[in-house]
Amino acid sequence: MRIKIDGLKNGSNIFLVPENDITGTVIHDYVIKDSQDLELEIQKSGNYIHIMGEAQLGFKSICDRCAEDYETSQIIKIDYMFHIGKLDELSDEMVTVDPSENEGYLDLLPYFTEAFILALPVRQLCSENCKGICQNCGKNRNEGDCGCNFEKQSDPRWETLVKILNKNGET
Ligand SMILES: [Zn+2]
Ligand SMILES: [Zn+2]
Repeated sequence: MRIKIDGLKNGSNIFLVPENDITGTVIHDYVIKDSQDLELEIQKSGNYIHIMGEAQLGFKSICDRCAEDYETSQIIKIDYMFHIGKLDELSDEMVTVDPSENEGYLDLLPYFTEAFILALPVRQLCSENCKGICQNCGKNRNEGDCGCNFEKQSDPRWETLVKILNKNGET
């Protein structure tokens, strides 16, 4: 996922990351299964480069509740500022790049990876209604009732409340 940055013209440039370069990419535990070409708009102004674009990616994930694989998708947004060569003042929003070190290319993958991770939901669920794994017998409860009886188990905090209520009832 490399972008040639030493030949960019000032103003707006369009760069396509082909679908083939994206599909199959593995980011931590996620495998990208489906993508379209990622169209990037690259604004160059002197030594400043602003790279923007977004793509919808289909990928394989693992459910936090039932631990099964499932397919999902999300939109990632690329929005990064770069500066060619060192800056006198360090900036958090700016990454300095030296194209001469890399034959004139910028590797987008670390930024693509970060954008992907940032777009992930806090909880990965195969479905909103995923019943998860039974804490008692370990069966995936989406595949059917495991037969464990949860009705008898009540929250100890409620039991205390019930006791207090009963006591009040006696007096
Ligand atoms: Zn699940
Ligand atoms: Zn069970």
